[in-house]
Formats: sequence, structure tokens, C-alpha cells
Amino acid sequence: MTNHQDFPVPHTSRQLAPLSGSFSLPGGAALVLFSGGQDSATCLAWALSAFQHVETVGFSYGQRHAVEMDCRATLRRQIADLVPRGAERLGDDHVIDLPALGKLSETALTRDAEIKLGKNGLPNTFVPGRNLIFLTFAAALAFRRNARTIITGVCETDYSGYPDCRDDAIKAMQVALNIGMDQRFVLQAPLMWLDKARTWKLAELIGGPALVETIRRDSHSCYHGDRGEGSEHDWGYGCGHCPACELRAEGWHRYQASKS
Ligand SMILES: [Zn+2]
Repeated sequence: MTNHQDFPVPHTSRQLAPLSGSFSLPGGAALVLFSGGQDSATCLAWALSAFQHVETVGFSYGQRHAVEMDCRATLRRQIADLVPRGAERLGDDHVIDLPALGKLSETALTRDAEIKLGKNGLPNTFVPGRNLIFLTFAAALAFRRNARTIITGVCETDYSGYPDCRDDAIKAMQVALNIGMDQRFVLQAPLMWLDKARTWKLAELIGGPALVETIRRDSHSCYHGDRGEGSEHDWGYGCGHCPACELRAEGWHRYQASKS
């Protein structure tokens, strides 16, 4: 595998136009890919602690866990209130409809099928190239919104094995998007080298126990969308047995163990 340090640095023949209008504040503007799950919720908090203006984007593509999308608005506001200066830094939310992605992907996320590991070792929840598509749409939006930094919660440390969550894929996308759009976007994946326990720790460092509790209670990662009666666990809501719930539960328990 190519070491991430060996990847070419993106270059363009032109400098990025200076940030203008309401986005001319020092620190610049960032666009966070925000699904309403634990990882993107932590990324939003991280972005609000680091950037002067933060907007969010979500994608609706007929995913079975649409409940994740329903959590977004409440969670966005709660996170902003718990990060110093977060409320004044939080800008617009954007939702992009991608029904074609749902139609293309014959997977468990979009069809009523059992979630299990496929022969290739990936859960059948895998939507091929999903993150690459999301990043491309996010970059097109960032271009229009004059945001230079695009933040994604992908991670290759403690993850389900999706190849487009890997650092090399993100680095390659940064190069491709910058060449293809003649920009100097910076794609940031602050969770890339954190396991799920350290992702909880990061939330604690940014917003204390209140932010951890908000993310635990109001973010949603379960593939089945379980948030009903009997679906609350110490680590949050979910079915408790899909790959996303298992990852989240293990991370939560390691985080709790690290505190004692
Ligand atoms: Zn689940």
C-alpha cells in the first residue's frame, strides 16, 4: 500500500480566490459531511472549535436508516450550543437528494435484506464508492459556498472495511477534486487514525461530558434505524447487533474502561 506521505501534493496553476463576503473571517469556512452519526457529529464539534464558519451537508438516498437524517437538525443545534462560540459559527445545513445512488446500490442499506458479511469480507451494507460520490457533491457545494475545507468523519482505524474510508482514498480524492475543479480544497478527516474509543475522547476534550452525552443520546449509527422503546443501550440507541452497533458499543466500552 502506498504510504500517505508519498502522495502528490495537489497543485493548481491559479491561487484560490480570496474568501469574500460573510466567509472572510480568519480561519475560513468549512463544510462538514454530517450524517447524524457518531463520527460526523464529532467532526462537526471539531470543526466548530477550529473554523470561523461551519456549514453542514447531508445526503438522502433512500437509505434504510433514514432515522439518522431525522436526528440531524436537533443534533446540529445541540452540538453548536456545547462548543465554545459554536452557535455563532454554525451556518446553513444542506441536504442533497441522491435517489440514483439508492437505485444503483443493491445492498442491505437500501433493500429489506439481512445485514451480513459478504464473500469479500465487507458487510453487504457497502454502497460501492459512496464516500467518493459524497465528497464530489460536497466539493461542488463547497465551491459554491466558498468553503475551502471539507471535513469528513471517515476512519480506517476502527471501521467496517469500506475502501473509500481509507486515508489513501481521501488523499486521492483531494488531488482529483482540486485538479478537476481548479481549486485548493483541503480534505480533512480528523478521525482517520482514531479508534472509536478515542473518538469519544475527542468529543470529551472539545465539549466535555455534556457533548459526549449529546452524541451518545442523539447521534445515530445503527443500520436498522432502531430508536424505539427498548433500543437504548449505555452507548446509545440501536439494534445492538448490526456491524455499526457492534463497533459503536465496543468503542464506548473501551472509552469507559479508559476513564477508570
Ligand atoms: Zn444496529
